[in-house]
Amino acid sequence: MAVSPPQTKYEVVIGLEVHAQLKTKTKIFCSCPVDFGSEPNTNVCPVCLGMPGVLPVLNKQVVAYAIKMGLAIGCEITKHCKFDRKQYFYPDLPKNYQISQYDQPICKNGFLMVEDKKIRIQRIHMEEDAGKLVHAGADRLHGSEYSLVDYNRTGTPLIEIVSEPDIRSAEEARDYAMILRSILRYLDVCDGNLEEGSMRCDVNISLRPEGTETYGTRTEIKNVNSFRSVTRAVESEIERQTEILNSGGRIIQETRLFDEATGTTVSMRSKEEAHDYRYFPEPDLVPLEISNKWIEEIRETIPELPNQKKIRYPKDYGLSLDDIKVLTEDRNMAEYYEAVVRMGAIPKKAANWLIGPITAYLKEHKTDIIGCCMTPTQLADLLGFIEKGLVNDNTAKTEIIGEMLSKGTDAEEIIKEKGLAQVSDEGPIRQAVKEILDANPGQVKELKEGKEKVKGFFVGQTMKKMGGKANPAIVNKIIDELIK
Ligand code: ADP
Ligand code: MG
Ligand code: ZN
Repeated sequence: MAVSPPQTKYEVVIGLEVHAQLKTKTKIFCSCPVDFGSEPNTNVCPVCLGMPGVLPVLNKQVVAYAIKMGLAIGCEITKHCKFDRKQYFYPDLPKNYQISQYDQPICKNGFLMVEDKKIRIQRIHMEEDAGKLVHAGADRLHGSEYSLVDYNRTGTPLIEIVSEPDIRSAEEARDYAMILRSILRYLDVCDGNLEEGSMRCDVNISLRPEGTETYGTRTEIKNVNSFRSVTRAVESEIERQTEILNSGGRIIQETRLFDEATGTTVSMRSKEEAHDYRYFPEPDLVPLEISNKWIEEIRETIPELPNQKKIRYPKDYGLSLDDIKVLTEDRNMAEYYEAVVRMGAIPKKAANWLIGPITAYLKEHKTDIIGCCMTPTQLADLLGFIEKGLVNDNTAKTEIIGEMLSKGTDAEEIIKEKGLAQVSDEGPIRQAVKEILDANPGQVKELKEGKEKVKGFFVGQTMKKMGGKANPAIVNKIIDELIK
């Protein structure tokens, strides 16, 4: 019987290439609108259709957005740079070449902090997107009968953000991609929608025996359409490569596709089939000369970023790291939170409300903090009413907040209209507690014997009797008094 070889322990090495579609009004080299969901082939012109004899004109906003992202992740800006032609033949590329950047990317040598680890960014370059092929008349057995092409996407500006192979786990790869998206959104340069393809991740993965330095042969996984898929794709690829290496095989450098349905990757093309892109400097565009003045102007437009908020929040608000992570992921949420606190809310209370019931409501109604009708002032007022004991926490959660979020009604108005004011008056509370105690002698006996859990039952019953409006602190106090 064959003896299985000793199993080597491997370390995974990952580098990500992220394409982000920029939120410019027009395309990178023509004035066609960048507009998703238009009728196919309506946002096109001779330039983005690759007609002979036309010339590209660079959209300055694209360069500004690329620089903005570069500055946000600590890159050097390449002040003298150029565009290059990358040649390949494919029906979604009407010119038969893509205008991209090869050896002089606009940004270099940046980094991103993932938890406390620095992931180095190799480069950011600008390029144009290709069109979209729609494989139609699909038949599971024979593939599609024909393909349609939509050139609306052709010439949409992209930046490609390339990391160094510094990532060491599936979770780290996902977190890196999430932080990158968060920053792209803070800067308002990309809407970061993986499902719709406005942000696309290619994941490069290799293994090496633990403790060794040299990188192993990598595969590149495309088609990863969600953060969950980033994790799944890496995990399945680690498994596949481990099996090959452990059975004495070797990894072939190739591009693989992630299949959502099976959670595995399948080979798309090997290195041998890889294109020779025959890059050369784009002759139809002049090289870029970027001034320090312009760079500084762009720097001014960068808002406080999540990493800076992560440093400031503990000092200003005393929140836990988990709370901070959730609140700062989305810029609108973070700024809303800050406004609520500015209006006088207790920082921890405001955080709990936003992370808990309000986020739950927003998710349920498929909207976000900008899409709801409640202003930060209104939320601060509600929290103030709770603090002053004018309404209790539970009533606010069950009866008030929903209407504030959906209609923008003031808390005060809802409290008046629905008669939700909290009863802190001891007289009626004492009366209600007495009645509950009289009706439940068995539980009274248990509580007297020290079964503290029964107290919750009495609090609940009293609240129920008083329509949920009693002040829970006073209910507790009176139960204690009467049970002694
Ligand atoms: P190419 O020019 O073939 O795309 P790059 O050197 O630009 O190759 O690398 C592309 C991506 O692959 C980068 O994100 C890089 O960090 C990553 N990468 C390079 N080598 C490895 C490796 N051995 N294992 C994992 N990732 C790698
Ligand atoms: Mg590359
Ligand atoms: Zn056009």
